[in-house]
Amino acid sequence: MPLTQDQIAHATQHVQRHLGQCPICGSASWQLVDVVNTLPFTGGGLVIGGPTTPMLLVACSVCWYTIQFAAVPLGLTGSGGASK
Ligand SMILES: [Zn+2]
Repeated sequence: MPLTQDQIAHATQHVQRHLGQCPICGSASWQLVDVVNTLPFTGGGLVIGGPTTPMLLVACSVCWYTIQFAAVPLGLTGSGGASK
């Protein structure tokens, strides 16, 4: 999901406030990757059209360790309800 400049600024501020050093390589250089949807675990198989959880991916720009933040509370998107 492409982010607007305001969303990028807000997300960057959140990352800078909450992320310190990368737990893998020790770098403090993080970059926003994208907002992606995650699917709930159903015990097996895939539910098409079910609810999703939008997550902001943030990666260390040295070793590419990746961490996620919930995108809805960050105000980056609405809830990931069932697709139509
Ligand atoms: Zn790293």
